[in-house]
Amino acid sequence: KKINIAIDGYSACGKSSTAKMIANRLQYKYIDSGAMYRAVTLYFIDNYVDLTNEKKVDKALKNIQIDFRFNSKKEKSETYLNGLNVEEDIRTMRVTNMVSEVSALPEVRKVLVDLQQKLGKKKGVVMDGRDIGSIVLPDAELKVFMTADMKVRALRRQQELLEKDQLVDLNDIIDNLAKRDRIDTTRKVGPLTKVDEAVEIDTTHMTLEEQVEEILNEATS
Ligand code: C5P
Repeated sequence: KKINIAIDGYSACGKSSTAKMIANRLQYKYIDSGAMYRAVTLYFIDNYVDLTNEKKVDKALKNIQIDFRFNSKKEKSETYLNGLNVEEDIRTMRVTNMVSEVSALPEVRKVLVDLQQKLGKKKGVVMDGRDIGSIVLPDAELKVFMTADMKVRALRRQQELLEKDQLVDLNDIIDNLAKRDRIDTTRKVGPLTKVDEAVEIDTTHMTLEEQVEEILNEATS
C-alpha cells in the first residue's frame, strides 16, 4: 500500500537528492517544495515585486503558475514558471540569496501550501521541504527530519554548484545557509521544526546511498 513520505530539514542536508532516489526506488512521485518557493522568488526578482507591499505581493501571486514537467532526456522533472523552464535559474545564488525572505511571507506560503497539498492528495508521494511533516502533509505515514554539520553541508552545496559551473566561495555559502536556517526557523508561519513523530537522520557521516537505505527501511517497516 502506498504511503506519503515527508522529508524536512535544514538547507543542503541532502533532502532533495535523497528524496529523489527514494521516489525512484518506490516508483513514487517526488515533489520539490523548495523549487516552488524558488520559482516565486525568481518571479518576484524579475518583476521587482516589493515584498513589503502586501497588495503587490498578492497581485503577483495571481500571475504565477508553477508546474513540473518530466524531461525524458535528462530523466528528471524540471520546474516551469508560467510555461518557461526555470530549473537552472532557480538554483542560482541570486535566487538562493532571496528565497527565505520570500518564503517568510504568509501570502506566499498560503498559495504554495495549497498547491503542495493538492499534489500530495494521492498517496505515493515523497515531498521535501521545511514544513511538509508539520503543515503540508500532516498525515504522512513517514516523516523524516534531516540534519548535518554546517561545514559538510556547505562543502556539498559548493560541489553541487561547481558541477553546474558556478564557482561560489565557501564562506558565502556558509553565510547563506546560516541566514536561511535562521529565517526558516524563526518565521511566524510554517517555521522549520522537527515534529515529534519524525525520524531524525544526521547525514554528516553518511553517503547518499546510506541515507536512502535508512529511509527505505523505515518506509517498509
Ligand atoms: O529546499 P530548498 O533549499 O531548495 O528551499 C529553498 C528555500 O525555500 C528554503 O531556504 C526556505 O526558505 C524555502 N522553503 C520553505 N518551505 C518549504 C520548502 C522551502 O520555506 N517547504
